[in-house]
Amino acid sequence: MQNNIDYWKRRQIREAFNVFSQAEIAADEIAKLYIKASAYMTTKMQGVYDKFKRKYGLTDEQAKQLLAAASDRGSIDAALQALKNSPQTEPVTELRKVVESAAYAARIRQIRELEISAGLVMNAIYKQELAKNTALYQKLIPDSYRKSIFAIQQRAGIAFSFSDVNPKLMDRLLHSKWSGKNYSVRLWGNTQEVAENVKEQIILGALTGKTEREMAEALDETFAKGARVSRRLIRTESNYIFTQADMAARKECDIRRYMYLATLDMKTCAETCGKLDGRIFLVKDQKPGYNCPPMHPWCRCTTLAILSDEWIRTQTRRARDPETGRTYKVPLSMTYGEWKKKYLNKNSEKSSQDSDIIKLPDEQIFRTLSSRAQNYDILNPETGEYFHFVEGTKIQNRQVFAGYKTKHPLDPNVREGLAEQIGGDPDKWQHCKGCGHINANGEDRLAEVHWFQEESVGKYKFKIKRWLE
Ligand SMILES: [Zn+2]
Ligand SMILES: [Zn+2]
Repeated sequence: MQNNIDYWKRRQIREAFNVFSQAEIAADEIAKLYIKASAYMTTKMQGVYDKFKRKYGLTDEQAKQLLAAASDRGSIDAALQALKNSPQTEPVTELRKVVESAAYAARIRQIRELEISAGLVMNAIYKQELAKNTALYQKLIPDSYRKSIFAIQQRAGIAFSFSDVNPKLMDRLLHSKWSGKNYSVRLWGNTQEVAENVKEQIILGALTGKTEREMAEALDETFAKGARVSRRLIRTESNYIFTQADMAARKECDIRRYMYLATLDMKTCAETCGKLDGRIFLVKDQKPGYNCPPMHPWCRCTTLAILSDEWIRTQTRRARDPETGRTYKVPLSMTYGEWKKKYLNKNSEKSSQDSDIIKLPDEQIFRTLSSRAQNYDILNPETGEYFHFVEGTKIQNRQVFAGYKTKHPLDPNVREGLAEQIGGDPDKWQHCKGCGHINANGEDRLAEVHWFQEESVGKYKFKIKRWLE
């Protein structure tokens, strides 16, 4: 059974299906936000449009033409300007008479308010949608990585040591621009597009004399279209995250090849995905959209690790405990939960050692006359001045609160910047703090001080965070 490749294909496809289902659930929640927004805008619209069809107004076609000529398709003022500039055909003259009447002024004001509401509503949706997407991916990355290693070990029948998912992988996948843009930028783009479309509908409705009921329908359709794009984005990104976590697990296990599985897409996509089904590629050559899912939006394909006999022999040798001579087994009957309990924590000592903060001993600031004189330039960010520690005092309560060996990774820009500017390994920079006596223009003042350090290059960028007295 453990060598039955069809079983492992089915299992991998089941895992992929499970991931897509999780994405669908998140998409359902997001769709609810769009439905709510549509209902909210419809309520706000009451009284702005008419209950019954009016005699005046352009046709949809004429109104669209007019908006195409406007400087901003989402602004009633730009539309009115375009109306003024457009050739005076009969419907245009008639509409102008209506919109320029004193009675219509209140309505124009309401339309401007609707435009603003549409922008605010979509900004609020963006924030919630981004949070939901990110929460899903943050859960998917470790889940997929670990399950992938579990499946590999179960196929091999043995538990060899491995590193658990690390913040670097999380960071890389969450900030990836594999499709040209990071998912956060795509979500932003979609919400802004919906906002523009809603504004355009609001204005089109005013120009064509749509009824409230027609407007409600038009808005529903616009929001539904936005929700559909959202669903596509989260579904596609989830496949990317899932597949890349699988690939990272394969690299961790020294597995060199993978097989493309197009089972779920075969019927719908014989041309693109179907042709890749069963083909084998090198893990190091994997490239989404080229030889690795997602090949396109909505792609439901996945990949399976290829375990060679040589790889299994090597891993079996490695998995043997040197003291007892015993090999740790992962039988097919073992569940993921059991495996995690038995092998994950044992194997992730490295990451479980990572702590919230690392306490450091006090540091003595020696006197200038001493051969061990060591002082630092400390920036006062409020004034731009540089101070020094009072000689003979100590920096106390020192701790590393972010970066290397802590649970809080440094911002990639910060650590890359430090490595570039000062040197050292970008992954080994730490952010630290402590309390020290500062010589502030002759006055001895206690302050909380922050700095960065890296073991091979030392401490840099001391800064006064706040005065303590
Ligand atoms: Zn396809
Ligand atoms: Zn596909």
